[in-house]
Amino acid sequence: MGKEDMNYSLLVEMYERIEATTKRLEITDYLVDLFKKTPKKLIDKVVYMTQGKLHPDYMGIELGIAEKLAIKAISLSSGAGEVEVDKALKKIGDIGEAAAKFLGKKTQVTLFHEPLTVSRVYETMDRIALSTGEGAQEAKIKLLASLLSDAEPEEAKYIVRTVTGKLRLGVADMTILDALAVAFCGSKENRPPLERAYNLSSDLGGLAAAVAERGLEGVKKFKITVGKPIRPMLAERLASPQEILEKMGGRCAVEYKYDGERLQIHKEKDKATIFSRRLENITHHYPDACQLVVNHVQASAAIVECEAVAINPDTGEMMPFQELMHRRRKYGIQEAMKLYPVSLFLFDLLYADGEDLTLKPYPERRRVLESLVEEGESIKLAKALVVDNAEALEKFFEEAVAEGCEGILAKAVYPESVYRAGAREWLWIKYKRDYQALLTDTVDLVVVGAFHGRGRRAGTYGALLLAAYNEKEDVFPTVCKIGSGFTDEDLEKLPRMLKDYIIPHKHARVVTQMKADVWFTPSLVLEVLGAEITLSPVHPCGINRIRKGSGLAIRFPRFTGRYREDKSPEDATTEDEIVELYLKRLKKVEA
Ligand code: ATP
Repeated sequence: MGKEDMNYSLLVEMYERIEATTKRLEITDYLVDLFKKTPKKLIDKVVYMTQGKLHPDYMGIELGIAEKLAIKAISLSSGAGEVEVDKALKKIGDIGEAAAKFLGKKTQVTLFHEPLTVSRVYETMDRIALSTGEGAQEAKIKLLASLLSDAEPEEAKYIVRTVTGKLRLGVADMTILDALAVAFCGSKENRPPLERAYNLSSDLGGLAAAVAERGLEGVKKFKITVGKPIRPMLAERLASPQEILEKMGGRCAVEYKYDGERLQIHKEKDKATIFSRRLENITHHYPDACQLVVNHVQASAAIVECEAVAINPDTGEMMPFQELMHRRRKYGIQEAMKLYPVSLFLFDLLYADGEDLTLKPYPERRRVLESLVEEGESIKLAKALVVDNAEALEKFFEEAVAEGCEGILAKAVYPESVYRAGAREWLWIKYKRDYQALLTDTVDLVVVGAFHGRGRRAGTYGALLLAAYNEKEDVFPTVCKIGSGFTDEDLEKLPRMLKDYIIPHKHARVVTQMKADVWFTPSLVLEVLGAEITLSPVHPCGINRIRKGSGLAIRFPRFTGRYREDKSPEDATTEDEIVELYLKRLKKVEA
C-alpha cells in the first residue's frame, strides 16, 4: 500500500464507533480524527463513503444493488450455499451481519491476502455501481465477491451494507462540515465559509478535497460551477400583509407563488441541465423546459430558477401541482409532454456568463434576469410588483389567487437582499391562500415511526408517528400521531413505501417519548392538515419554548393525500415554524 492510500479497516473502525453512539458531538470528534488520518487524495472518497455514497447526490449514481445479488456474492466468496445464506439473512434480518457471519468461516481459506485499502474498495464499488446492460448482474456479483474474498468479517459487513444501500449511519451534512472545519480550518467557528461553499456546490466530497488541500483559502476561492446544483433559497411564512411589510422594512417586491415544480436550470451554450428542489438531476423529465431556456435566455452560460407549471392544453389554464407527477417517469416523456405541457415562470438568476450573482441584491438580479430573458408563450418572468402598503400587497395577493396561484412570495429589496443558498430566512416570505381561514394550515412532516393497525387495518399501519425538523440540533422531534386521511390505497401502499427505511430501534436523530411499534430512518415526508396546535406532555417539538416541560402537538391531523416526495426530511416544516404557527393562532383565537 502506498503513502497515498489507507486501510479500509480504519474506516470500518470509525463506522463501528459512530454506530455505538447517539451523540452528535462524539460523531464529530470521530470524524475529525478520521479526516486527519486520511491521505488528502482520498478525503473526498472517505466523505462520500461515510454517507453511504460514492458521488454527490446530483450525479444520480446509485449503489443499492439487490439483496439477491449480494447473497450470490456472499455465497461465491465464502463457499456457503445460497439457500443457507438466504436462510441466515431471514433469521438475522441484516444483510451486513449475514455477510460477516459467513465470511468469518470461509471454507476456502486464502492463505495470504493484502489488507483491503480504501481505494480498492471505492473503485470496486464504483465499478459495481456503473456496470449496466447485458451481463451487468454477473459482473456486479463477481466484483463484490472479489472484495469479500479479501475482507475481514467486519469489513464484509460494511461493504455489503454499503453496496445494498443500507449503510445508514445517520451522519448529517452539517456534522461533516463541522468536522472539516475542525480538522482543516482550526475550529468549528470557521464553518460558515465552508457552509457557503457547500451550498453553492452541493458536493461535500469536492469541498472536503479543497479544504484538505488548501485550508480556508481553498474554500474562499470556491466558485459556482455550471452543472453543479446550488442549494435552493427558501422562504419563511407570515399570515398578514402588515407583518410582512414590517419584516421587510416597509417596502418589498411581491411575486406570484406559482403552484408547480421548482426547477434550477443550468444552461451552457445549447445544452441545459435541470435540478429539482432536492437537487436530483431531472433533465430527462423536461426536454421542453431545456429547449425553452436554451432558446430564450440570452447568455452562453447561466443558472436560472423557475417554477414549471402544468397547463391544461385545452384551456391554457394553470393546473394544480399534482398533474406534474406525470412527468416523473422514465419512459413515455414525449407523450407526457403533449398531455401535460408546462409553462416556465422564471424568478431568479444566480449566475450569468462568468458572474456569480448570488451576492447581488434581489432588484439587481431581477433586472439582469429581465434583460436576458426573451419572453414567449411558455416562458415568462414571474409576475412581480414593488409595494409599500398593505392594501396593495393584499390586492396583488387576491389577483394571484384568482389566477390559480397558491399565493405570493414577498421578497426583500434592501441592499443585503442576496441569494442565500440553502437557507430559509426572512428575505423571502410566503403568504398563502390557506392562511386566510383559521386552523387550516398544512405542514410537511416526516414519518419516523408506525403503529400496527387493528380491525379493518390489521396487517397494515394503523397510525404513523410524525416529526418536524430542528435545524440547529439536526434532529427530528415528534409532533403528532396520525391515522386520518388515508385512503385504502394509501394504507395498502404505505408499508411498501416505508419497507426500506425500517430500523430495529428509534433513529438517533429522532426525539420522542412515544413508543412506536416500528421505527424508520427519517425519509418520507407527508403533507398534513392540522386542526389545532396544543401544548403536549409527550411530543418534544418546541419543548420549553411556550411552557417549561411542555412541547407542542398537532391535534386532529389529517393526511391531505400529498406525498411530498420532492422534499427531503430536512425540508420538512421546522420546529421554529410550528412554534410560530402556535403563537400566531393564539393571537387569532384571542382576537
Ligand atoms: P411550499 O410547501 O409552501 O410549496 P416549500 O417548502 O416547497 O413551500 P418554500 O421555501 O416554503 O418552499 O416556498 C418557496 C417555493 O415556492 C419555492 O421552492 C418554489 O418552488 C415556489 N415558488 C413559486 N413561485 C415562486 C416565486 N415567484 N419565487 C420563488 N419561489 C416560488
